[in-house]
Amino acid sequence: MSSDAHPAAEPSHIARRGLCLVLAAPSGTGKSAITRELLAFDHNLSLSISVTTRAPRPYEREGVHYFFRDQAEFDAMVQSGDMLEWAGVFGRSYGSPRAPVEAALASGRDVLFDIDWQGYRQVRAALPGDVVGLYIMPPSLDELERRLRTRASDSEAEIQRRMATAAAEISHVHEFDYVLVNNDFQVAVSQARSVLTASRLALDRLTGVDAFTATLLAQKT
Ligand code: 5GP
Repeated sequence: MSSDAHPAAEPSHIARRGLCLVLAAPSGTGKSAITRELLAFDHNLSLSISVTTRAPRPYEREGVHYFFRDQAEFDAMVQSGDMLEWAGVFGRSYGSPRAPVEAALASGRDVLFDIDWQGYRQVRAALPGDVVGLYIMPPSLDELERRLRTRASDSEAEIQRRMATAAAEISHVHEFDYVLVNNDFQVAVSQARSVLTASRLALDRLTGVDAFTATLLAQKT
């Protein structure tokens, strides 16, 4: 999988493998909005749509935001090896289906994950060298709580549960490659795009650099 190249992705004869960009953050940090912005303007990037056992929010649609499944169906997917990673978050199960990710990477496409630190660890272990981790911090915990309340789709108990796990979630920041603070949404989006662009150009992800260099140098003689 990781050795597949995408000939049209870079100029000349330099090609590259698809990569997985994992965005992680405490719930309410704005990660989903940043995800939407990245996807809207980047046709080589697709979202890994997770499976979850939690109930849909009013605006959420099956197969767009999540695949909503009961616990037995979720457990069956895990048992049959259909999950690239999975974790328990806020007392519910969440997981990333394996097949769409493998298909995307095989065709040189990049995949965006909106998952937690536990999932990030597993994806990184499953696809070594193909995963870039970007951690998004809230400007403050007060602001995080305000944003959770503005969302108005979660119950008070759910908000309290999410606030209680935010500090534990943030403590995993050191496992990631890049960190940004979502103070200003447009700045955060632009920073996330920059991480993606730089990651696509990383030398160890490119193939054909030596041949291209040789071609350039041959033109000198
Ligand atoms: P929410 O219920 O707000 O949609 O998501 C709660 C948390 O679960 C978020 O931090 C989100 O990133 C994480 N999450 C969503 N999908 C997955 C997944 O497939 N795997 C893992 N490990 N975490 C997920």
